[in-house]
Amino acid sequence: MRTTPDTPDSAVQNVVRAAARSGVQPVALTGTGGIDRDAGHRLDEAWLGAAWSHPTTRVFVVSGGQALIEETADGRTELVMMPSFDAPLTEAHRYFLGTDAEGVRYFALQKDSLPGRMDEVARPAGLREAAALLSERDNELLVHAVALENWQRLHRFCSRCGERTVIAAAGHIRRCPACGAEHYPRTDPAVIMLVVDEEDRALLGRQVHWPKGRFSTLAGFVEPGESIEQAVIREVAEEAGVAVAEVEYVASQPWPFPSSLMLGFFARAATSEPQVDGEEIEEARWFSREELREAMESGEVLPPAGVSIAARLIEMWYGKPLAAASW
Ligand SMILES: [Zn+2]
Repeated sequence: MRTTPDTPDSAVQNVVRAAARSGVQPVALTGTGGIDRDAGHRLDEAWLGAAWSHPTTRVFVVSGGQALIEETADGRTELVMMPSFDAPLTEAHRYFLGTDAEGVRYFALQKDSLPGRMDEVARPAGLREAAALLSERDNELLVHAVALENWQRLHRFCSRCGERTVIAAAGHIRRCPACGAEHYPRTDPAVIMLVVDEEDRALLGRQVHWPKGRFSTLAGFVEPGESIEQAVIREVAEEAGVAVAEVEYVASQPWPFPSSLMLGFFARAATSEPQVDGEEIEEARWFSREELREAMESGEVLPPAGVSIAARLIEMWYGKPLAAASW
């Protein structure tokens, strides 16, 4: 996905090569957790009933974007799961999430609150915290469940006729009993991009409401009737006043806060002087690697950390993890 032909020395290609050398993984919340979503069974109530009752089936509760996590004896952190016969099914919404390579089937129960536990090992955690601790399999399950919960919470009424809708397809459809409409989970595409210039500097911006010193990549939602490449070019122009000449897709990350899919890009700037909009972005600056290192060292700049694709894009350009950068 390039808007101009390949040139051997393009700034974007330099970043892509540097990123490959750095070994920084492009994304975190995008799991390779080995779960087959088994979507073909979602409408088969008999199959779902048998899957639910099977002794190897595992269930966890999701509530308000959180689930219980616990540390194991060997120091890992996992989702608190239970067999279905222990699961508090009453009043709950049941989401079928899929099957792993061993044939274990996973369900999430959406409830008004998380179950209490007598021990003090388990604690509630949201995705941002859990993603840094859990295995890829557990992350994949939790992201799926939280995304469904967010969609269900915000789409209880039919967008055609206003009637209350009911859950179907093991949590993946809402049906309207009045007009027959079927509503499917929404995912809102957003673009997030690290813009580089010919001197291999990165453009980072500060949103108006961020804490002092916080800088990150630019980002924004794709508008109706727009390609994702057009969205990258428009957002960089709107937020930072910089023209983009080249756009290269890197990776994506589900971001269910409440329903985004972050599409990550490197982009090459054709103009240099940032001019911020002042409404969403209050400051945008070019950083060389050395300038960013010094600014982080002095505490002047707080880059994004953790599992966000913003942090991964910056690290891919920077050449090493931001949190583990040694100075
Ligand atoms: Zn309706």
